[in-house]
Amino acid sequence: MSQQKIGVVGAGTMGNGIAQAFAVAGFEVILTDIAQPALDRAVATISGSLDRLIKKEKMTEAQKAAALAKISTATDTQALAVADLVIEAATENLELKTKIFKQLDGLMKADAILASNTSSISITKLAAATGRADRVIGMHFFNPVPMMALVEVIRGLQTSDATYATVEAISKAVGKTPVQVKNSPGFVVNRLLCPMINEAIFALGEGLAEAAAIDEAMKLGCNHPIGPLALCDMIGLDVELAVMQVLFEGTKDPKYRPAPLLVEMVEAGYLGRKTGKGFFTY
Ligand code: NAD
Repeated sequence: MSQQKIGVVGAGTMGNGIAQAFAVAGFEVILTDIAQPALDRAVATISGSLDRLIKKEKMTEAQKAAALAKISTATDTQALAVADLVIEAATENLELKTKIFKQLDGLMKADAILASNTSSISITKLAAATGRADRVIGMHFFNPVPMMALVEVIRGLQTSDATYATVEAISKAVGKTPVQVKNSPGFVVNRLLCPMINEAIFALGEGLAEAAAIDEAMKLGCNHPIGPLALCDMIGLDVELAVMQVLFEGTKDPKYRPAPLLVEMVEAGYLGRKTGKGFFTY
Protein backbone atom coordinates (compact mmCIF):
# COMPACT_ATOMS: atom_id res chain seq x y z
CA MET A 1 0.00 0.00 0.00
CA SER A 2 2.83 2.42 0.85
CA GLN A 3 3.92 2.23 -2.80
CA GLN A 4 0.88 4.41 -3.53
CA LYS A 5 1.56 8.06 -4.28
CA ILE A 6 -0.33 10.58 -2.16
CA GLY A 7 -1.00 14.13 -3.34
CA VAL A 8 -1.75 16.86 -0.80
CA VAL A 9 -3.22 20.18 -1.98
CA GLY A 10 -2.60 23.09 0.39
CA ALA A 11 0.50 23.20 2.61
CA GLY A 12 -1.03 25.01 5.60
CA THR A 13 -1.66 23.70 9.13
CA MET A 14 -3.47 20.57 8.00
CA GLY A 15 -1.67 19.97 4.70
CA ASN A 16 1.78 19.85 6.29
CA GLY A 17 0.51 17.56 9.06
CA ILE A 18 -1.07 15.20 6.52
CA ALA A 19 2.11 15.20 4.41
CA GLN A 20 4.20 14.39 7.49
CA ALA A 21 1.95 11.53 8.61
CA PHE A 22 2.01 9.88 5.17
CA ALA A 23 5.76 10.39 4.63
CA VAL A 24 6.58 8.90 8.05
CA ALA A 25 4.39 5.90 7.14
CA GLY A 26 6.53 5.41 4.02
CA PHE A 27 4.22 6.86 1.35
CA GLU A 28 5.60 9.05 -1.41
CA VAL A 29 3.99 12.48 -0.97
CA ILE A 30 3.57 15.29 -3.49
CA LEU A 31 2.70 18.47 -1.57
CA THR A 32 1.33 21.40 -3.58
CA ASP A 33 0.30 24.96 -2.79
CA ILE A 34 -0.27 28.12 -4.82
CA ALA A 35 2.45 29.85 -2.83
CA GLN A 36 6.12 28.75 -2.75
CA PRO A 37 6.65 30.37 0.71
CA ALA A 38 3.82 28.18 2.07
CA LEU A 39 5.66 25.09 0.76
CA ASP A 40 8.96 26.24 2.27
CA ARG A 41 7.26 26.89 5.62
CA ALA A 42 5.56 23.49 5.47
CA VAL A 43 8.84 21.61 4.92
CA ALA A 44 10.48 23.59 7.77
CA THR A 45 7.49 22.82 10.04
CA ILE A 46 7.66 19.11 9.21
CA SER A 47 11.42 19.07 9.81
CA GLY A 48 10.93 20.79 13.21
CA SER A 49 8.18 18.38 14.15
CA LEU A 50 10.39 15.38 13.29
CA ASP A 51 13.23 16.93 15.34
CA ARG A 52 10.92 16.96 18.37
CA LEU A 53 10.22 13.25 17.82
CA ILE A 54 13.99 12.60 17.69
CA LYS A 55 14.42 14.49 20.98
CA LYS A 56 11.73 12.29 22.54
CA GLU A 57 13.59 9.25 21.12
CA LYS A 58 10.54 8.29 19.05
CA MET A 59 12.49 8.63 15.80
CA THR A 60 16.09 8.44 14.58
CA GLU A 61 17.96 10.94 12.36
CA ALA A 62 17.95 8.31 9.61
CA GLN A 63 14.17 7.89 9.85
CA LYS A 64 13.76 11.66 9.67
CA ALA A 65 15.92 11.84 6.56
CA ALA A 66 13.96 8.96 4.99
CA ALA A 67 10.62 10.68 5.72
CA LEU A 68 11.75 14.05 4.33
CA ALA A 69 13.09 12.31 1.21
CA LYS A 70 9.57 10.99 0.56
CA ILE A 71 8.15 14.52 0.22
CA SER A 72 8.36 16.51 -2.98
CA THR A 73 6.77 19.94 -3.38
CA ALA A 74 5.29 21.80 -6.35
CA THR A 75 3.33 24.94 -7.14
CA ASP A 76 2.14 23.33 -10.38
CA THR A 77 -0.97 21.19 -9.83
CA GLN A 78 0.06 19.07 -12.82
CA ALA A 79 2.52 17.32 -10.46
CA LEU A 80 -0.51 15.50 -9.02
CA ALA A 81 -1.19 13.64 -12.28
CA VAL A 82 0.75 10.61 -10.98
CA ALA A 83 -1.05 10.42 -7.59
CA ASP A 84 -3.26 7.48 -6.59
CA LEU A 85 -4.99 9.53 -3.88
CA VAL A 86 -5.12 13.31 -3.60
CA ILE A 87 -6.17 14.87 -0.28
CA GLU A 88 -7.29 18.46 -0.70
CA ALA A 89 -6.53 20.60 2.37
CA ALA A 90 -6.77 24.09 0.88
CA THR A 91 -8.50 27.09 2.45
CA GLU A 92 -12.11 26.41 3.57
CA ASN A 93 -14.10 28.01 0.76
CA LEU A 94 -16.72 26.28 -1.42
CA GLU A 95 -15.91 28.15 -4.64
CA LEU A 96 -12.16 27.54 -4.25
CA LYS A 97 -12.59 23.85 -3.44
CA THR A 98 -15.04 23.36 -6.35
CA LYS A 99 -12.49 24.93 -8.70
CA ILE A 100 -9.68 22.72 -7.32
CA PHE A 101 -11.85 19.58 -7.60
CA LYS A 102 -12.73 20.32 -11.25
CA GLN A 103 -9.08 20.97 -12.09
CA LEU A 104 -7.84 17.83 -10.30
CA ASP A 105 -10.56 15.70 -11.90
CA GLY A 106 -9.25 16.78 -15.29
CA LEU A 107 -5.65 15.82 -14.64
CA MET A 108 -5.72 12.86 -12.24
CA LYS A 109 -5.54 9.20 -13.29
CA ALA A 110 -8.98 7.76 -14.11
CA ASP A 111 -8.96 5.36 -11.14
CA ALA A 112 -7.41 7.79 -8.62
CA ILE A 113 -9.38 8.91 -5.56
CA LEU A 114 -10.02 12.55 -4.69
CA ALA A 115 -10.52 13.31 -0.99
CA SER A 116 -11.21 16.55 0.88
CA ASN A 117 -10.19 17.41 4.44
CA THR A 118 -13.02 19.98 4.61
CA SER A 119 -14.59 20.57 8.02
CA SER A 120 -17.90 21.84 6.74
CA ILE A 121 -18.40 21.61 2.98
CA SER A 122 -20.67 18.90 1.57
CA ILE A 123 -18.69 16.00 0.07
CA THR A 124 -21.74 15.20 -2.07
CA LYS A 125 -21.59 18.73 -3.53
CA LEU A 126 -17.83 18.55 -4.22
CA ALA A 127 -18.26 15.09 -5.80
CA ALA A 128 -21.00 16.40 -8.09
CA ALA A 129 -18.56 18.97 -9.51
CA THR A 130 -16.39 16.14 -10.88
CA GLY A 131 -16.76 13.37 -13.43
CA ARG A 132 -15.63 10.81 -10.82
CA ALA A 133 -18.27 11.28 -8.12
CA ASP A 134 -17.99 7.63 -6.97
CA ARG A 135 -14.25 8.19 -6.31
CA VAL A 136 -14.72 11.30 -4.17
CA ILE A 137 -14.71 11.05 -0.37
CA GLY A 138 -14.00 13.09 2.78
CA MET A 139 -10.93 12.42 4.94
CA HIS A 140 -11.39 14.68 7.96
CA PHE A 141 -8.14 14.69 9.91
CA PHE A 142 -7.68 16.40 13.29
CA ASN A 143 -5.11 18.96 14.35
CA PRO A 144 -2.21 18.25 14.98
CA VAL A 145 -2.45 15.48 12.38
CA PRO A 146 0.70 13.53 13.38
CA MET A 147 -0.62 13.24 16.97
CA MET A 148 -4.35 12.71 16.49
CA ALA A 149 -5.49 9.15 15.82
CA LEU A 150 -8.89 9.84 14.29
CA VAL A 151 -9.86 10.30 10.67
CA GLU A 152 -13.56 10.72 9.96
CA VAL A 153 -14.08 9.11 6.55
CA ILE A 154 -17.04 10.88 5.02
CA ARG A 155 -19.16 9.13 2.42
CA GLY A 156 -20.92 11.40 -0.04
CA LEU A 157 -24.15 10.11 -1.54
CA GLN A 158 -22.21 8.97 -4.62
CA THR A 159 -19.11 7.46 -2.89
CA SER A 160 -18.68 3.80 -3.90
CA ASP A 161 -18.02 0.93 -1.49
CA ALA A 162 -14.71 0.29 -3.29
CA THR A 163 -13.58 3.91 -2.72
CA TYR A 164 -14.54 3.71 0.94
CA ALA A 165 -12.68 0.39 1.38
CA THR A 166 -9.51 1.79 -0.23
CA VAL A 167 -9.54 4.93 1.90
CA GLU A 168 -10.28 2.96 5.07
CA ALA A 169 -7.25 0.74 4.35
CA ILE A 170 -4.98 3.73 3.55
CA SER A 171 -6.10 5.47 6.77
CA LYS A 172 -5.07 2.40 8.76
CA ALA A 173 -1.79 2.13 6.84
CA VAL A 174 -0.93 5.68 7.94
CA GLY A 175 -1.59 4.71 11.57
CA LYS A 176 -4.99 6.38 11.92
CA THR A 177 -8.30 4.96 13.11
CA PRO A 178 -10.98 5.60 10.50
CA VAL A 179 -14.60 6.10 11.51
CA GLN A 180 -17.22 5.87 8.76
CA VAL A 181 -19.59 8.86 8.69
CA LYS A 182 -22.34 9.94 6.31
CA ASN A 183 -22.07 13.34 4.66
CA SER A 184 -23.91 15.70 7.02
CA PRO A 185 -23.18 19.15 8.54
CA GLY A 186 -20.36 18.90 11.10
CA PHE A 187 -19.93 15.14 10.58
CA VAL A 188 -19.72 13.48 14.04
CA VAL A 189 -17.05 15.21 16.11
CA ASN A 190 -17.96 18.84 15.38
CA ARG A 191 -21.68 17.99 15.50
CA LEU A 192 -21.30 16.88 19.11
CA LEU A 193 -18.39 18.97 20.37
CA CYS A 194 -19.37 22.42 19.08
CA PRO A 195 -22.96 22.40 20.46
CA MET A 196 -21.51 21.35 23.85
CA ILE A 197 -19.16 24.35 23.78
CA ASN A 198 -22.00 26.59 22.53
CA GLU A 199 -24.17 25.45 25.45
CA ALA A 200 -21.36 26.32 27.87
CA ILE A 201 -21.36 29.84 26.35
CA PHE A 202 -25.17 30.07 26.77
CA ALA A 203 -24.70 29.06 30.43
CA LEU A 204 -22.01 31.72 30.90
CA GLY A 205 -24.18 34.36 29.18
CA GLU A 206 -27.12 33.50 31.44
CA GLY A 207 -24.92 33.91 34.52
CA LEU A 208 -25.37 30.27 35.52
CA ALA A 209 -21.76 30.16 36.71
CA GLU A 210 -18.41 31.90 36.15
CA ALA A 211 -16.25 30.75 33.20
CA ALA A 212 -13.70 29.03 35.47
CA ALA A 213 -16.52 27.30 37.40
CA ILE A 214 -18.15 25.97 34.20
CA ASP A 215 -14.81 24.54 33.08
CA GLU A 216 -14.05 23.10 36.52
CA ALA A 217 -17.47 21.43 36.62
CA MET A 218 -17.00 19.74 33.26
CA LYS A 219 -13.44 18.63 34.08
CA LEU A 220 -14.36 17.13 37.44
CA GLY A 221 -17.90 16.00 36.63
CA CYS A 222 -17.27 14.49 33.19
CA ASN A 223 -13.56 13.74 33.35
CA HIS A 224 -12.91 16.04 30.38
CA PRO A 225 -9.20 16.90 30.13
CA ILE A 226 -10.02 20.56 29.42
CA GLY A 227 -13.09 22.70 30.09
CA PRO A 228 -15.36 23.70 27.16
CA LEU A 229 -14.54 27.42 27.42
CA ALA A 230 -10.76 26.94 27.56
CA LEU A 231 -11.14 24.53 24.63
CA CYS A 232 -13.10 27.16 22.70
CA ASP A 233 -10.28 29.65 23.34
CA MET A 234 -7.88 27.10 21.83
CA ILE A 235 -10.05 26.34 18.78
CA GLY A 236 -10.82 30.03 18.21
CA LEU A 237 -14.19 31.64 18.89
CA ASP A 238 -14.50 32.53 15.19
CA VAL A 239 -14.03 28.87 14.22
CA GLU A 240 -16.59 27.74 16.84
CA LEU A 241 -19.05 30.34 15.49
CA ALA A 242 -18.44 29.22 11.88
CA VAL A 243 -19.18 25.59 12.80
CA MET A 244 -22.38 26.54 14.67
CA GLN A 245 -23.47 28.54 11.62
CA VAL A 246 -22.84 25.52 9.38
CA LEU A 247 -24.93 23.31 11.70
CA PHE A 248 -27.69 25.94 12.00
CA GLU A 249 -27.83 26.80 8.28
CA GLY A 250 -27.39 23.18 7.18
CA THR A 251 -30.21 21.81 9.33
CA LYS A 252 -32.36 24.92 9.99
CA ASP A 253 -32.78 23.43 13.44
CA PRO A 254 -32.95 26.19 16.12
CA LYS A 255 -31.17 23.94 18.62
CA TYR A 256 -27.93 24.86 16.80
CA ARG A 257 -28.35 28.65 17.02
CA PRO A 258 -25.07 30.27 18.09
CA ALA A 259 -25.04 31.67 21.64
CA PRO A 260 -25.50 35.49 21.54
CA LEU A 261 -22.41 35.94 23.74
CA LEU A 262 -20.32 33.96 21.24
CA VAL A 263 -21.49 36.19 18.38
CA GLU A 264 -20.77 39.34 20.38
CA MET A 265 -17.30 38.21 21.47
CA VAL A 266 -16.37 37.46 17.86
CA GLU A 267 -17.67 40.93 16.90
CA ALA A 268 -15.40 42.38 19.61
CA GLY A 269 -12.39 40.51 18.21
CA TYR A 270 -12.06 38.32 21.32
CA LEU A 271 -11.14 35.17 19.41
CA GLY A 272 -9.36 33.22 22.17
CA ARG A 273 -5.68 32.36 22.53
CA LYS A 274 -4.72 33.76 19.13
CA THR A 275 -5.83 37.28 20.15
CA GLY A 276 -4.77 36.96 23.81
CA LYS A 277 -8.37 37.22 25.01
CA GLY A 278 -11.35 34.92 24.90
CA PHE A 279 -13.23 33.46 27.84
CA PHE A 280 -9.88 33.66 29.64
CA THR A 281 -6.96 36.09 29.24
CA TYR A 282 -3.58 34.87 27.91
P1 NAD B 1 -4.47 27.00 6.27
O1 NAD B 1 -4.98 28.37 6.02
O2 NAD B 1 -3.46 26.78 7.34
O3 NAD B 1 -3.86 26.39 4.92
C1 NAD B 1 -4.51 26.48 3.68
C2 NAD B 1 -3.45 26.44 2.58
O4 NAD B 1 -4.13 26.29 1.32
C3 NAD B 1 -2.58 27.71 2.48
O5 NAD B 1 -1.21 27.38 2.54
C4 NAD B 1 -2.96 28.30 1.11
O6 NAD B 1 -1.87 28.94 0.44
C5 NAD B 1 -3.38 27.03 0.37
N1 NAD B 1 -4.20 27.25 -0.83
C6 NAD B 1 -5.15 28.18 -1.04
N2 NAD B 1 -5.65 28.06 -2.28
C7 NAD B 1 -5.00 27.03 -2.88
C8 NAD B 1 -5.04 26.44 -4.18
N3 NAD B 1 -5.87 26.87 -5.11
N4 NAD B 1 -4.21 25.41 -4.44
C9 NAD B 1 -3.36 24.96 -3.49
N5 NAD B 1 -3.26 25.49 -2.27
C10 NAD B 1 -4.07 26.51 -1.96
O7 NAD B 1 -5.78 26.10 6.54
P2 NAD B 1 -5.90 24.75 7.38
O8 NAD B 1 -6.24 25.08 8.80
O9 NAD B 1 -4.76 23.87 7.07
O10 NAD B 1 -7.24 24.14 6.75
C11 NAD B 1 -7.24 23.46 5.51
C12 NAD B 1 -8.50 22.62 5.40
O11 NAD B 1 -8.54 21.68 6.48
C13 NAD B 1 -9.81 23.40 5.48
O12 NAD B 1 -10.73 22.82 4.61
C14 NAD B 1 -10.24 23.22 6.92
O13 NAD B 1 -11.64 23.31 7.08
C15 NAD B 1 -9.77 21.81 7.18
N6 NAD B 1 -9.53 21.43 8.59
C16 NAD B 1 -8.86 22.28 9.43
C17 NAD B 1 -8.62 21.90 10.75
C18 NAD B 1 -7.83 22.77 11.70
O14 NAD B 1 -7.84 22.49 12.90
N7 NAD B 1 -7.11 23.79 11.22
C19 NAD B 1 -9.05 20.64 11.20
C20 NAD B 1 -9.72 19.78 10.31
C21 NAD B 1 -9.95 20.20 9.01
